[in-house]
Amino acid sequence: MPSTILTVNNLNKKFSSIHAVKNLSFTIEKGNVYGILGPNGSGKSTTLGIVLNVVNKTSGDFFWFNNSISTHNALKKVGAIIEHPNFYPYMTAEENLKLVCKIKGIPTAKIIEKLTLVGLIERKDSKFRSFSLGMKQRLAIASALLNDPEILILDEPTNGLDPQGIHQIRSLITKIAAEGTTILLASHLLDEVEKVCSHVVILRNGQKLYDGRVDQLIASNGFFEVMSTQKNKLIDFLKNHDAFNTVKDEGDIIKAFLNTNLEAEILNKQLLEQDIPLSHLVKRKESLEEQFLQLTNNKK
Ligand code: ADP
Ligand code: MG
Repeated sequence: MPSTILTVNNLNKKFSSIHAVKNLSFTIEKGNVYGILGPNGSGKSTTLGIVLNVVNKTSGDFFWFNNSISTHNALKKVGAIIEHPNFYPYMTAEENLKLVCKIKGIPTAKIIEKLTLVGLIERKDSKFRSFSLGMKQRLAIASALLNDPEILILDEPTNGLDPQGIHQIRSLITKIAAEGTTILLASHLLDEVEKVCSHVVILRNGQKLYDGRVDQLIASNGFFEVMSTQKNKLIDFLKNHDAFNTVKDEGDIIKAFLNTNLEAEILNKQLLEQDIPLSHLVKRKESLEEQFLQLTNNKK
């Protein structure tokens, strides 16, 4: 049975006139990598802030670990980086982590292991101020992992990094997930979520548009693009065909979206039998990007 790490139920947040999070519900199960994906201002950071108890919710609920322990104790099992990492510039990487352990009251035993995991062991004696932005971010991740949390939460983990830094952080997240830590990250980058996450909650204007596996979002049945001089007859036929959900008239081209698998040859044959000759027939599949744009642009 999957064990639930976080449950969010009908969460709302209003900042005076701005309704930043609207009736948001989702659950986080152990062992997966979740992305909260949405354009800037869609409510990602606010949602993370609420479940981490740094932003007050307006209404709704959230429960950590099936509500088996208090939020205060639950958050001790959560590693989170939601702001720019704040370390002392004149102290070394290792000294900074020792200080974190002292402040949080956790043993220093894991410092070397975590510095190794994030690829900074050779730089453990370098001062923080000499680090690149990517190294600073990796040190922050090491710091959040010092007490082996159940879940690691990251807000826009690759923002501001160069391509190499982005690649290092994404590989590191994948590695941490492979070792069994559940991950929740917020990102406005579709390709980041596609590369790193198994599950996604898509937000627009604080509202959930999709919630589920990333591969199920991609695995639609596709659609046909067709053209014929007998356009009206063609549209009628497609609308009455069981294999299609939606038929869109886009001027010359008609798009017919499949709810099941149907080969182009079969459709072509069926249309010829109805005396509807085609001048154009293409079967296509929407990329995740097209689906994401459709979701974020069209839905009111
Ligand atoms: P995201 O992280 O997806 O970019 P945010 O959660 O930061 O989005 O913001 C969602 C909305 O709430 C935005 O319209 C933002 O301007 C607003 N907002 C966020 N924090 C505050 C705040 N402290 N006061 C007023 N408005 C805020
Ligand atoms: Mg944000």
